[in-house]
Amino acid sequence: MITTAPTAFTKTLNALAEGARDALRAKGHRFSSTDGVRVAFCNKYGVGNGILGSFSWQTPDTIMLAPPPHETLWEFWAQEICSTYIHELHHRWQFQSWGLVKYAFNAAPFLRRLALEKSAKAIELEADRILGTAKE
Ligand SMILES: [Zn+2]
Repeated sequence: MITTAPTAFTKTLNALAEGARDALRAKGHRFSSTDGVRVAFCNKYGVGNGILGSFSWQTPDTIMLAPPPHETLWEFWAQEICSTYIHELHHRWQFQSWGLVKYAFNAAPFLRRLALEKSAKAIELEADRILGTAKE
């Protein structure tokens, strides 16, 4: 099931992401604007299966995230999942700056890890350091 995230959650998440933008940019990282992005929860995502978020070029204005472990924990969750959100917004930036043909080519299985995921993982780890959510 996919549901649009509550407005308060999306507002908090966007404020956290935008707050990290300058520090990430200073390290050479880029991610798309949060303007006009629909944040949606997919109930098949979660810590249990390790899928916390996704971006699809077929729905480039929607970022899918794992829902909070409990609905009362949404503020904690916005903080915890923000680096994943930035990771997916980085894919949106790749899509917007490269265009569909280059993005779709780079998303092919034999290229994806290097062409799309290397920089996305790097921005995610740096975002964790900036946001204070690094796991180690
Ligand atoms: Zn990715």
